[in-house]
Amino acid sequence: MGWWLARTLAALGVVLTVSAVAALFGVLAHLAVPAMAVGGLLAIVLLVLRDSWRGQGLMNWLRGAQTTQAPRDSGFWGELAYRTEKALRSRDLAIQQEQERLSQFLSAIEASPNGVMMLDAADQIEWCNSVAAEHFGLDPQRDRRQRVTNLVRMPAFVAHLQGGRHDEAVVFSGPLGRTTLSVLVRPYGEGMKLVLSQDITERERAEAMRRDFVANVSHEIRTPLTVLAGFVETMARLPLTETERQRVLALMQQQTDRMQALVGDLLTLAKLEGSPRPPADRWLNAAELLVRARLDAQALSGGRHTIELVGGDDAEMAGSDSELHSAVSNLLNNAVRYTPDGGHIQLRWLWRPDGGAEIEVTDTGPGIAREHLPRLTERFYRVDSSRSRDTGGTGLGLAIVKHVAQRHGGEIDIQSEPGKGSTFKLVLPALRARRKRVDETVAA
Ligand code: ADP
Repeated sequence: MGWWLARTLAALGVVLTVSAVAALFGVLAHLAVPAMAVGGLLAIVLLVLRDSWRGQGLMNWLRGAQTTQAPRDSGFWGELAYRTEKALRSRDLAIQQEQERLSQFLSAIEASPNGVMMLDAADQIEWCNSVAAEHFGLDPQRDRRQRVTNLVRMPAFVAHLQGGRHDEAVVFSGPLGRTTLSVLVRPYGEGMKLVLSQDITERERAEAMRRDFVANVSHEIRTPLTVLAGFVETMARLPLTETERQRVLALMQQQTDRMQALVGDLLTLAKLEGSPRPPADRWLNAAELLVRARLDAQALSGGRHTIELVGGDDAEMAGSDSELHSAVSNLLNNAVRYTPDGGHIQLRWLWRPDGGAEIEVTDTGPGIAREHLPRLTERFYRVDSSRSRDTGGTGLGLAIVKHVAQRHGGEIDIQSEPGKGSTFKLVLPALRARRKRVDETVAA
């Protein structure tokens, strides 16, 4: 109210002063009253003009982008301009801070490993992060303000979005059918929706593998158990001669051996999966390990094959003795089991140009057709199931070798052709293979 009174008094002062001055001049012409009126009027017009001019200055500034300073006047207009500018600047600052907060918030959502999409009440895309865009095959910029159901045609998604029951996530195939998505819709605000998506392809695959594995193990165990149960029943029901009894017992023994081998391999796999990587600084005498593995294979062969060992005298490898021995033995046992009598098997240590090494098992067996090669290391994958079982195979040998190789930073390499035998290589990286130091060789 202060400025109003001051401004009114100032205007009155100006009008009265100008009127009085005009009246003084009017006295000379005996026209004091009209002169005073004209003077007053003139003063009012001048005041209005001056106000309009200063108001126009402020108006022009407000109409512009307000990048320059507001007009700096004294008095009422000066204060009005100053206060307007201050209010605008603090509003701009608040908007800028809000925008920064919003963009930080959006960056945080953008960094989420899950998809986030915001839909308005008409199911139009307000915003989505790049993960959601990838999940639903959208373009985060181009598709903004588009109705999501026009762009995402997956019937299960559309039905879920429009279905109204949003308390549970739904699972369905991604747009190209290559991924599996889990999508949760959460209503918020007035009819708006938050769509959260997660790529669960890997999880589903692992779950399917686990189911397959359990089914396979159950099947592998059920078969010998059924056979055993049959023999037990036979022995309980029928009066057997001593020869028959001995034969049944031998067959029962075969089945229990098979189950034992299976459980043994399962435990080995479980141990490989659950324990830390073997140390890279525990050096083993390669020749000693290879000789041991060859002796085991010779025992299994019982003289039916020639088993030759080449190289490895000057070599050492770093890792777990039991794991590496089990891997080499598995390769040699396979060679013995699948190579017909009279065949030749070679166990070789080879240095690689990169400083790594290969433990190679070559046989003159039947070989393996090309289409089976990529799947041989899968658990329970067999080319010829009956041959594998007849020779005491569990279907887990090469899976164990692959695990051991990977745990030592290496890999398994298989080359084979039907009729031309097979070569299985356990490849070790340079970090885990070295030539025996001379002083150690002498000491040994
Ligand atoms: P299994 O216990 O059945 O031998 P593996 O995992 O050791 O299981 O081997 C998987 C399959 O690979 C075998 O069933 C067999 O068909 C094939 N295979 C492995 N080694 C040889 C080999 N030396 N010669 C021919 N086939 C082989």
